[in-house]
Formats: sequence, C-alpha cells, structure tokens
Amino acid sequence: MNLVLIILLFTVLFGLTGALLGFSAHHFKVVESPVAGKLNDVLPQTQCGQCGYAGCKQYAEAMAKNEAGIDLCVPGGQSTIDALAAILNIPAVKAQQDSDLRAVAFIEENLCIGCSKCSNSCPVDAIVGASKMIHTVIGNRCTSCRLCETTCPTGCISMIKVPKRPDEWNFCYPSLKEQFDNDGKPELEN
Ligand code: SF4
Ligand code: SF4
Ligand code: SF4
Repeated sequence: MNLVLIILLFTVLFGLTGALLGFSAHHFKVVESPVAGKLNDVLPQTQCGQCGYAGCKQYAEAMAKNEAGIDLCVPGGQSTIDALAAILNIPAVKAQQDSDLRAVAFIEENLCIGCSKCSNSCPVDAIVGASKMIHTVIGNRCTSCRLCETTCPTGCISMIKVPKRPDEWNFCYPSLKEQFDNDGKPELEN
C-alpha cells in the first residue's frame, strides 16, 4: 500500500514539475533577435570584453538595437567591421587601430617559469607550453584580446605590434620582430 502511495506521490510531483517547466518555457522564453544572431556569428568569440560588453553576444545584441557602433571589437579588426556593416547594410568604418599594425602577445621566454596561467587564460589556444616549461605564443592564432597579459606572475607577457594581420603575414614568431625593416617586411637572410 505504502509503495503505491509513494509511486502516486512521485507521479503527481513529476507531473507538476513538468507542467511548471512547460509554462516557464512558453511564457518566459527569451526571443533572440535574428540580426543579433547574424552579427554574433561574425564576431571572433574571444569573449575578451574589449568592446565594453560582457562578451560577443552582448555586443551583437547592442549593435542590433543600434546602441553600439560597429568598430568596437579590437580583435576582429577591419574584416569584422566590414562583415558587420554588410549585415546591417550600413557603410563600413575604419578600424580604430592602425590597419597596417596589429598587437600580438609576446612572451619573454627567459622570464617564463612555466606556470601555464597564460595558456589557461587564452580563449583561442594561441599559447603553447607544458607545465614548468617555457611557453610561447603562436602569433598567427593570437587575436590581440590581451587576456593573457595580466595573468603572468612574472610580467613577461607584453603586446607587440606586427605589421600585418595573421592571415596576411608570412611571419614565424613575434620574437622575430627585430628582423622587420622599416617597410614592415622581414629582412631575408642571404
Ligand atoms: S571585443 Fe570582440 S572578441 Fe572581445 S568580447 Fe567584444 S566582440 Fe567579442
Ligand atoms: S595569446 Fe593572449 S592576447 Fe593572444 S589571443 Fe591568447 S590570450 Fe589573447
Ligand atoms: S603566465 Fe607567464 S610565467 Fe606563466 S607560463 Fe605564461 S608566460 Fe610563463
């Protein structure tokens, strides 16, 4: 008898919970703007907050409501501005940073103690290195978000300017910056 009562109680409980969840899903669902979704799709998804919003999605929602300009995403650069402008059907503006230069994280390897705090903080896996070993940045993966910069206990991470965007340079390591001449082209070894 007790068993029947318990089963009955659980059935009623689960039924009520299901009804409550169904009611909430129907009446309190958040309808995402389709434009915000499209804008979010072309953002880098670094979630670095440099645009002044908590993340890419929040920035996209602000743009969709015409509350934010299209030039606030530093990691995205000019190509992202162009894509955002195309979606919103408005003229593209020039990226706030110098379009010929781009910041990339650089690790002073002689100061690195291999704590891995930087690689754990990098949202795009642009830092490689094993625990207690030297870490280094894969330059053409770095999106300039700067999230790693403040995590380093020895202060050995800084941002350096590189002449072109990663998809445009033929460039091995940020540590080779000294090999660039004034024209922004690498000096070729003879
Ligand atoms: S600056 Fe760009 S990548 Fe960073 S959170 Fe904002 S939209 Fe995302
Ligand atoms: S290396 Fe640093 S600056 Fe570059 S993407 Fe990773 S966290 Fe951001
Ligand atoms: S946070 Fe600094 S010390 Fe730690 S692994 Fe990264 S570069 Fe090296």
